[in-house]
Amino acid sequence: MAYLNTPKVIYPLAEYRVNSLPFGKRSVYEGVLWGIHLGEDVKVPAGTDVRAIGRGRVVYSALHAGDAEKGNWGHIIIIRHRHPVRRQVFYSLYAHLGSSYKRIGDKVELGEPLGFVGESFTAENGWWEAHLHFAIYTGPWQDQVLPGYWKDGDTRTRPEWWQVPSEFIARYAQA
Ligand SMILES: [Zn+2]
Repeated sequence: MAYLNTPKVIYPLAEYRVNSLPFGKRSVYEGVLWGIHLGEDVKVPAGTDVRAIGRGRVVYSALHAGDAEKGNWGHIIIIRHRHPVRRQVFYSLYAHLGSSYKRIGDKVELGEPLGFVGESFTAENGWWEAHLHFAIYTGPWQDQVLPGYWKDGDTRTRPEWWQVPSEFIARYAQA
């Protein structure tokens, strides 16, 4: 599938405030380091529209249903984009959606609705309190879902392949 350039990027929510778990936050459960957060969490009401940050191609769209025993991604979408000048390929990841309007292979335009924030503690949102997990990935893509946390010794990904999403968007248009 051909790369699609996006000259501009925007935030995936009309009101974007990292008000829950910030990027890089170390989560500790019962005294043990569980992982380093690879995205930003924004708590917004269920039903809030989530939009594509730029033009791109959907490379992953699936439901990873959660339950009370084990939280999961819920509906998750990953879009591949490319900067028209720098030619940098990067991916935007949106998770805990209540539904997905897009399939793998779909072309999306900047600002196009992708889905909405899922209801709290439902299989569709992966069994979390309603929020958007949003991430920017710049590493190689291997046709599989990407992790939301980096764990010590994890060979699926590297922390340096992940960007602080709000900073990435703020500086995108600059040379
Ligand atoms: Zn998160």
